[in-house]
Parts: sequence; structure tokens; C-alpha cells
Amino acid sequence: MLDSRDRLLILAPHPDDESIATGGLIQFARNAGAAIRVVVLTDGDNNPWPQRWVEKRWRIGPAERARWGARRREEARAAMRILGLAENETCFLGLPDLGLTDLLMRADAQVIESLHTQFGEFAPTVLVLPALGDRHPDHSATSILARLALARYPSRTPRVFEFAVHGNALTGTTVVAAATAAQRTVKQAAILAHASQMRLSRRRFLRYATLPETYRPATPLPDLQHPLRASIGSDGSLWVYLDQARWKANLRGHILFVVLESGAGVILRYRLALENLGDSADGSIAAMALPAASDLCSGYVKLVRLQPGWRVFDRYGWQQIEIPERNSGRA
Ligand SMILES: [Zn+2]
Repeated sequence: MLDSRDRLLILAPHPDDESIATGGLIQFARNAGAAIRVVVLTDGDNNPWPQRWVEKRWRIGPAERARWGARRREEARAAMRILGLAENETCFLGLPDLGLTDLLMRADAQVIESLHTQFGEFAPTVLVLPALGDRHPDHSATSILARLALARYPSRTPRVFEFAVHGNALTGTTVVAAATAAQRTVKQAAILAHASQMRLSRRRFLRYATLPETYRPATPLPDLQHPLRASIGSDGSLWVYLDQARWKANLRGHILFVVLESGAGVILRYRLALENLGDSADGSIAAMALPAASDLCSGYVKLVRLQPGWRVFDRYGWQQIEIPERNSGRA
């Protein structure tokens, strides 16, 4: 998978993902002599339940939250030292924890720009990012933000691989980062460096050290396990369908997020009301006329609760829109 000419860039949405998802891969890349950079997008500061347990306090305001983020960043630094990385091989963007979908949908130009800068500075030959279908909204949003930033990356395109942390294991071709017993021990030590997460999730976290790390090459094809399907109809409209049997829940209180990228580098975002709450004969739940002459090159849809309440996880992450060849702006 990697050799000494490779430059591996890993995108970790939170402190701990670099260890639980890619702790084996980092060691493998180090041994292969590849250049490595790990970019941690958020400080994991919006993490109230572990913080309440560890700090024995109920109320968590901005100051407590910032302190928790600083603590988690230090834990990630320690974990990455254990995995064999030097300080200058790691980078923290300090983006809002549990806020990446919002940045994506608010058309925040800064976040795509900073990822684009990372690609430009480091020039990766291999990019490893979270799966589009990951159930944690920060993970799936990271996946889209990175793809959008990558589309603007002028140099040669890296090979892109996805990892899944929350939700189903990835189906399809997987690449396994082989880990020796010694590497698994190091990975376990790196996971344990995230002491703030051990109080409530120790067993679940340590299990990652015993499992093989699997990666799937990113493709522009839709995920066949996902209940949503979206495509561009012959009339040029976007049609979205839901397999209700697979979704297995009420659609009331949900809306559809849509992100479209045109060949000209324009990114369009929509929040669509559902037209049929899953009771139409053909399973369609939304349709939208696309802006005229939009030469789409990629697009994504996700069902979202209007009022997520205390729930963090999505039922399903994002699905790619099937775009017919003639419409595709990118050959
Ligand atoms: Zn995470």
C-alpha cells in the first residue's frame, strides 16, 4: 500500500481518531519510510458526558469546554508521539467539535481553504479520510469537505482511502493495514493516551487495537448499503429515493441536506423539505430542479433530524448522487 516515495496525509475529525482508526497505518507508513502528516480537525471539546464524569461537574460553559479541548489536544499529541510521529508531522485545525456539518452547509470558505492549504503544502500521494457513510456527522462532513478541497487541488491527485469508525464496517474492496503484535501493543498504548475517553469508553476503544484496520478506496459510486439513492433524471432534475424497509424509522421531523459541486468549482447547498414521507409508490422523497447549465461533477445527500436533541449520531451518513456521464464536468 505504501513505500518510501509516498506521502501519507491522514484527516482525523477528533483527537483519538488518529489512534483508533489509523494507529496501525501510521506505524506501517513509518516503517515503509513514507512521509506522514496527521491533521486533526477539531479538539473534541464538545464532549460533555466524559467531561462531567472526569471533572465531577454538571455545568459546562465555554471556559470548561476550552479547557477540555486543550486537554484532548495534548492527549492526541502524546498518542502521536507513541505512534512515532514528531511534532511537526501533526497539525490541529481547532474547528468546532460537532460543528463540521454546519460549516459545510453554511458555505464556510475558510474550512475548505485550510484543507486545500494542507494538500498544497504537503502534496500527499495518499489521502486517508473518514467514510462518507460514517454515522458521526463530523466524520462524514470531513469526508465531503476534503473531497471538495481536493477537487481544487491543482497538482496530481492522491490515492484516496476511507475508514469507518461509527456504524457499519465498510463493504467492498478493503485494504488491510497489517499489524504485528508489537504494532498492536503500540496502538493500544496510543489509545490509552486518550485518558479523558477511557472513563466511559475504555473497552470499546481498546477493542480497536485488536481489530484489523480496513480501508476502502474512495469511488464516485453510490453506497449500495445506504437507504438513500439520488440521481439526476433525464429532465435534469435531482431525484431522491428512500428504501423505507432499510431506513426503518419515521421520516417526520427530517429534512434533506444536499451538497452539489459544479465543474467550475462552485459549491451549492440546499435544505430540502421532504415531499413524501416515504409513502410514494416509487419511494421518492424529494425532487429539485437543478440550476440551469450546472455541469455537476459530484453531489451528496443526507437525511437529517431538524431537532437532533441530545442525539449525536445520524441513522446514516451521506450518500453520493449518481451523476450521468454527459453531466459530469470532470472527465
Ligand atoms: Zn471521531
